[in-house]
Amino acid sequence: MPALPATFNDFLGNSAAVEHLRTAIAAGRLPHSLILAGPSGAGKYTLALMLAMAIECERQPRDLWSNGQSLASFCGVCHNCTRIASAANLEEEVDKAVAIREELKTEADRKDTRVLIQPHPDVLIIPPDPPQLLIKLGQIRTLIQRAHYLPNEAPKRIFILTASSFMKEAANSLLKVLEEPPDTVNVILLAENPGELLPTIRSRCATVRLGALPVEEIEMLLADRRPDVPQQQRTLIARLAQGAAGKALGFDLAAYTAARADALIFLRNAAATSSGNAEPDHTALFKMTETYRAGAEGQQKTSALLRTLSLLLEDLLLLGAGTPELLRNTDLRPELERLNTILNFAWIENASRGVDQVQSGLRRNLLRSLSLDAFAGQLASR
Ligand SMILES: [Zn+2]
Repeated sequence: MPALPATFNDFLGNSAAVEHLRTAIAAGRLPHSLILAGPSGAGKYTLALMLAMAIECERQPRDLWSNGQSLASFCGVCHNCTRIASAANLEEEVDKAVAIREELKTEADRKDTRVLIQPHPDVLIIPPDPPQLLIKLGQIRTLIQRAHYLPNEAPKRIFILTASSFMKEAANSLLKVLEEPPDTVNVILLAENPGELLPTIRSRCATVRLGALPVEEIEMLLADRRPDVPQQQRTLIARLAQGAAGKALGFDLAAYTAARADALIFLRNAAATSSGNAEPDHTALFKMTETYRAGAEGQQKTSALLRTLSLLLEDLLLLGAGTPELLRNTDLRPELERLNTILNFAWIENASRGVDQVQSGLRRNLLRSLSLDAFAGQLASR
């Protein structure tokens, strides 16, 4: 992932939402509790860091518009800005924090230590805690404890929660802070799906939505930033990124195509079964699922497979709904059309539910190969 955009004008898309937030900061009326909602890759985390810089910047620059509107900005070079910007690569920061935890001496210490990222004494970033990838009570306890102290070096204490998946006790605990947030505190909660949050949490936050970018805009962005990628591939990536600029720029088409080849085995196998071929042969299917092992690598591979499978299933639904122009896997259109004549709506719905189940099993850290095999068996038996 690249560094943060140099200015708010370099942030891609959603300019109305960004203006609204900058105006609120400049006027000193940014809500204490804010939900930034939007699809993965829409720039929620990037924008949250930029907002934090605008709030904490030592120089507090403003963009003044001819209509008198004042928009908060950041200098990007002061000691507050640079420290906050150092957390731009969230994945890397989480990996570092996890590595530190793994080096702790005793099992008890490792168990009690929560993953937290602190680029600045007054800015705390709280990611879902691995391996369950949920925000846990210990993390929210740290937030509560720090929220009670005045900021050290900057105007505010800022807490960025990078996902909306909480352990129940953690969510209840967060609610207490949101009920009466101290004046010097800003909580920014990033959510792909705000519906996942407790209604009581949602009702105490202002929600700002970041929408997906149109396919054409992402294609233009790719042409500009990744001219090395052949045009046909850029067209495909723009659709597969589903409106997420960040995702499009970092898209690994080779890895996606590999995962999709496996996902297609599921669909071809199911199609062979339901078209009534005498004795369906599941060899290819189980040979494929066998290559998915437990462990961190297996988990990543399985997640990639499930994501591509769920995109393929959605594409089949789009074909079924008579809207082929919305297809994402455009390069596979002939095959998807063939599959669509064989696999009916009920099968696709059932398969989508199965994908959701395996995904939530992964989140609970069950044995991956086991749940994937069970899923394959379930699909093959119909
Ligand atoms: Zn600054």
